[in-house]
Amino acid sequence: MKKILNYINGSYVAPKSNEWIDNYNPSNGEIYGKIPNSSAEDVEAAYQAAKAAFPSWSQTTIEERSRILDKIASLIAENLADLAHAESLDNGKPLSLATQIDIPRATSNFRFFAQAITQFSSEAHESVGLNAINFTLRQPIGVVGCISPWNLPLYLFTWKIAPALATGNTVVAKPSEVTPMTAYLLGEICTKAGLPNGVLNIVHGLGHTTGQAITEHPNIKAISFTGGTATGAHIARTAAPMFKKLSLELGGKNPNIIFADCDYDEMLNVTVRSSFANQGQICLCGSRIFVERSIYDKFKTDFVACVKQLKVGNPFAETTKVGALVSKPHLEKVKSYIEIAKEEGGTILCGGNEVTVEGFENGYYLAPTVIEVQTDQCRVNQEEIFGPVVTMMPFDTEAAVLQMSNGVRYGLSATLWTNNLNRTMRMSKQLEAGIVWVNTWLLRDLRTPFGGMKNSGVGREGGLEALRFFTEPKNVCIKYS
Ligand code: NAD
Repeated sequence: MKKILNYINGSYVAPKSNEWIDNYNPSNGEIYGKIPNSSAEDVEAAYQAAKAAFPSWSQTTIEERSRILDKIASLIAENLADLAHAESLDNGKPLSLATQIDIPRATSNFRFFAQAITQFSSEAHESVGLNAINFTLRQPIGVVGCISPWNLPLYLFTWKIAPALATGNTVVAKPSEVTPMTAYLLGEICTKAGLPNGVLNIVHGLGHTTGQAITEHPNIKAISFTGGTATGAHIARTAAPMFKKLSLELGGKNPNIIFADCDYDEMLNVTVRSSFANQGQICLCGSRIFVERSIYDKFKTDFVACVKQLKVGNPFAETTKVGALVSKPHLEKVKSYIEIAKEEGGTILCGGNEVTVEGFENGYYLAPTVIEVQTDQCRVNQEEIFGPVVTMMPFDTEAAVLQMSNGVRYGLSATLWTNNLNRTMRMSKQLEAGIVWVNTWLLRDLRTPFGGMKNSGVGREGGLEALRFFTEPKNVCIKYS
């Protein structure tokens, strides 16, 4: 049985308490590994290593940091097959998705920030008439904490770690206890790439023990967190009295708004993907579909027909489009929403049932589910389900669909399908979302800000925003005569 270890000060070490958590393979429900349930003592060891590494790393030239990050990117790319396999085994996602999206994106994260840091310069302002020159230093914060979820494990883990390291911080990072494997493998890659010992430390364990020890550590000065809204609120409560810098990337319940004047075939294709990619376990999935009434019946027929074609299967089969959900408790949670939908008067247009996959009978498979709802106020339309479940309903006017789109507590992303430029502009401005995709979904340029409004989070990551988050701006004002 595979035992995952913490990566502290450049070495793999067991947790001091010798406490372990089972690691499940969602495709067959079997335990296939053990991971540390790290205690505050392990987090302290990681912190001490990061603290010791900080003076030297923060003074390493930008070129050298950039070179090491670029090398990490190359090594992730070289190990694509192994990492993708590990990711699918841990998470249940189709191997094709891990190979084509998740692991390449981890490479891009390091590649992007290796470049971006070379362009990140301090600003200067001449105070004309006052004989003063001001410049803004951007200094690393010190030891920072990065905590990530299970849905896009290495993709999101590296999305935080790469900018934190690029800006000269040292890091204590925790991946999700549900999907620790690729984070574990990243340690070895960083050592091979020449990242000095202690610059990145990876501790594994449960949220309320290991994660809590990171967020309440008095000298871990900033926390970049991606995960659920309730966890984000808890972290904010813990961190606020210590005035930690916080970036919170939280849940979503994103509208997918379809107008009759869109490019129909493209919309249909992308909507199937935006509904069910990664078993619907992407914070950006368009889980609420609103369709203009004139094309509602046609869309309903076509969409349901496409969804029924999606092959649910073991993650390693080439034909699989929908793999296993990440865990048994998560499967149960998602299934409970299907029951809620029925009680609320929703109509299950397809799916709603568990799927038995031959040879993988104990895996966590659920058929992609489309629920027609009568009102946008029902729970399945309001609460984040985070599984292969979408709701749909018609709308009549732009005003009505805007109200429904904004009528949830979340504000992460929105997708709009229309060829009307004026409407695009009007709605983009009024949608309460950190990202608005028009006639596309999940197209990401890493230079752009990423994050949500309302209960979807506080702060932005990506591009300059990430570099800014991981640095302290300091104004230096020099008077001359
Ligand atoms: P989660 O909040 O349960 O866990 C996320 C991470 O936080 C894990 O590493 C977990 O161990 C840790 N954690 C849990 N309790 C903690 C605590 N008390 N203190 C410190 N750390 C703690 O989320 P999840 O179930 O792993 O992920 C799914 C959620 O993540 C969904 O809500 C999804 O929308 C969200 N998400 C958001 C984004 C985004 O960019 N906005 C991206 C991906 C996922």
